[in-house]
Amino acid sequence: MNISLVLQMAADTFPDRIALTHNGVHYSYGRLYASAQAAAARIVESGAAYVSYLGESSPATVVALFGAAMAGKPFAPLNYRLTVPETNRLIERLFPVFLITDLDKAASVPDGAARVLMTGPEFLAATASEEPGEWDAPQDEEGVAVQLFTSGTTGEPKAALLRHQNLLGYVLGTIDFASAEEDEATLVSVPPYHIAGISAILSSIYAMRRIVQLPQFTPAEWLKQCCDQSVTNAFVVPTMLTRIIAHIDETNEQPNLQALRALAFGGGKMPLPVVERALTLFPEVAFANAYGLTETSSTIALLGPEDHREAHNHPDPLVARRLDSVGKPLPTVEVEIRGEDGSVLGPNELGEVFVRGPQVSGEYQGRKLTDDDGWFPTRDSGFIDDHGFLFLAGRIDDVIVRGGENISPGEVEKVLRSHDGVEDVAVVGVPSVEWGETLAAAVVLKPAVTVTEQELQDLVRKQLRSSRVPEHIRFVDALPYNEMGKLLRRNVKAIFAD
Ligand code: ATP
Repeated sequence: MNISLVLQMAADTFPDRIALTHNGVHYSYGRLYASAQAAAARIVESGAAYVSYLGESSPATVVALFGAAMAGKPFAPLNYRLTVPETNRLIERLFPVFLITDLDKAASVPDGAARVLMTGPEFLAATASEEPGEWDAPQDEEGVAVQLFTSGTTGEPKAALLRHQNLLGYVLGTIDFASAEEDEATLVSVPPYHIAGISAILSSIYAMRRIVQLPQFTPAEWLKQCCDQSVTNAFVVPTMLTRIIAHIDETNEQPNLQALRALAFGGGKMPLPVVERALTLFPEVAFANAYGLTETSSTIALLGPEDHREAHNHPDPLVARRLDSVGKPLPTVEVEIRGEDGSVLGPNELGEVFVRGPQVSGEYQGRKLTDDDGWFPTRDSGFIDDHGFLFLAGRIDDVIVRGGENISPGEVEKVLRSHDGVEDVAVVGVPSVEWGETLAAAVVLKPAVTVTEQELQDLVRKQLRSSRVPEHIRFVDALPYNEMGKLLRRNVKAIFAD
């Protein structure tokens, strides 16, 4: 099977149904399918080994994704926020490439690296077709459908490989086929070079929903699109929801989100106060917290709408804390917690999260991290409670080793965040002669409040062991997040470089 089957089924069933809205222009399933077929022919003819896309979400993204799949070539979108040298280093790894981009950066693509260089509108015009052709997609489910570069926070970006079977495993495992009514629309505000952007396209088309693209996220524009386009489903990363709620609170206007039925979020840790506020602000919306990685073709575990509502303000603290969990593994996914010696741990024991299932690739260019039984080490630490809810405790590589003691920044951040004057906080390890590493906290205060370092240190001392008390505290205006809302801990460490 080939991921293009998803688009083909939608085009066969509802050729005239709107598949995509971009800047107010609509594209039908029939049109997208015919364009993807025409694109496949162009890609094969070019002799390119990869199809790449460097730019914001547009209809060309969708045509390129499926065109590449039909041509049997990996689709390798790039982050358009990278610098020219960073972009060029990645493009060289895709040589020879069929590159679609509207950005000036492309002007400096090294000679000979690109077989074809087109802008998005040129690509759409060159592949515009209303009638499906005779193109047959290769049915090689072990072929690489998508290659995504990770954000590279720990070195050069890793090229994660997702095979057709992984991505199909994800869509088939998560959504009821064709459950969507004609009026369902998904707002896609995540970029196309991230797994969340790819999975949003695949799952919307599989469910035959209309995709509404929002290439540049701002809270005001997100709310406007939700309202104007009668959006029924959306996915956001935590910073987006945080900003949407802050915008609503600042403007004091209750937005008209009557059509919105489901709002999923994930890709990073969602602060508990934000979820709680969202549940109160939008009582009619079904919330889902989705936990996933690039290497697992996105979501592997989900805290669904019923669990959100049940946990919210529940008198039993063991039920209430579920709001801070990522729920339960999807039906087709298995999750295990393992100790440092590789043994499988029991309920409530903290260890590394391992995952197995059809959607798990765990594979990079030249390297595979899954073991012989298909288990993939996520490098996330966590535990599963007595009722099967998965709680994450942070990334193993972020653990601070102070005098031989392992400290998860998350537990200290949680205490600091509970202070009324604290808006945001990040705890990192910094070099220490005495301890090897010691704790440092960068803190963003709420507007017009005064909090002292001593006060925050006392707060931690009251609730946790003395080794958890941050030795250094700096007050900063904002913390460094990337566009997906990921905290860049390396940049937080730089705050303490002196
Ligand atoms: P790199 O691996 O290069 O640093 P990255 O962190 O951007 O890149 P992704 O695959 O986008 O890679 O991120 C996956 C990680 O995001 C997970 O391992 C987990 O730590 C975190 N994450 C994803 N979803 C959630 C969630 N719902 N709640 C908490 N954390 C999450």
